Amino acid sequence: MPETLVDLPIADGRGARRVTARRLRTMWFWAPGWSRQACCGRIPTGGQVAVVRSPSGSAYVAGVQRCGSIWCCPTCTPWIRWRREQVLRQAMDAHVAMGGSLRLLTLTVPHTPSDQLDRLFDGVAAVWRWSVSGRIWMGAQRGLGISAWVRSMEVTAGAGGWHPHLHVALLLDGPADDETVRVWWHRRWVAACERFGLHRPSAARGVTVRDIAGSTAGYVVRVATEVARADVKTGRDKARFAVLQLFDLASTDRARWARDAWLDLAAATRGRHATYTSAGLRRLIPRVQPADLPQCPPSELVVIDAEQWRALRHQPTALTNALVLYEQGHDAQAAALLHAFGADISSIAPQ
Ligand SMILES: [Zn+2]
Repeated sequence: MPETLVDLPIADGRGARRVTARRLRTMWFWAPGWSRQACCGRIPTGGQVAVVRSPSGSAYVAGVQRCGSIWCCPTCTPWIRWRREQVLRQAMDAHVAMGGSLRLLTLTVPHTPSDQLDRLFDGVAAVWRWSVSGRIWMGAQRGLGISAWVRSMEVTAGAGGWHPHLHVALLLDGPADDETVRVWWHRRWVAACERFGLHRPSAARGVTVRDIAGSTAGYVVRVATEVARADVKTGRDKARFAVLQLFDLASTDRARWARDAWLDLAAATRGRHATYTSAGLRRLIPRVQPADLPQCPPSELVVIDAEQWRALRHQPTALTNALVLYEQGHDAQAAALLHAFGADISSIAPQ
């Protein structure tokens, strides 16, 4: 066995996350109710799996089941959110081209360590629905010039408990005074929280409005990323962690806390939408989506039959190292590593 290859350090955060994900999936496999997450990336959909490389250079295993979670899967979540970001960028580009402007609104509610995540999610979602309905909202749309919105629920975890909050992109018809927008939203958000029995949002942090138009280059990109890409964010400080950071922690001395937090999160987010868009925004979304456009297919590097895959998938470090080597262009070393762990190297696909 090529020890030097097996012991290769996992080069970056993404590699370490892949190893952790494979380890955790093995553990969840026997836990009732976790079959989709546990099968993701492990169970073949047919008689073979393949290691492939995309045109952008990333290597991954194809031909395995996927859980499709937008919330907490280290594989599926970034992919789904990236696609959503592309769609939002197109819609926001169209809005800005017509003379509109964008604002980022962040809405939070106070919480305590004992608050249940399920209840906080339900509460924040209900408060938002109430805030954007009824006569008062219709009046504000006209008064503030709000033509569309997209809202994203995010959550971080820390010693202070769960912290669900909303990031909202407001699409305004023209220029607007930020303080006027903030004052209206603060009044509305406080009234809504009190109505649904949540704690009263603070005057300073409950509602913030950001206009990032100062940097015109990348203006739309920044707004779309802020709303769509919870997977690339980190907690606000060192004691607060975003969802996929919990995965990174699961291989440290805080492993147990991180795993328990992740399991709570996966249970609480099951069946929940992460983002909602208004009808006005959906009208801006072009018919042809990025996912529908013709794409270069990934190139197949190694085909592995299901029997060999069953042995290989229990070697998360070796498998991840092989993927990293493929991404770095060291195809022969990667293939040798897979062969050392049971893959039939005679099945290397022709290049
Ligand atoms: Zn998944």
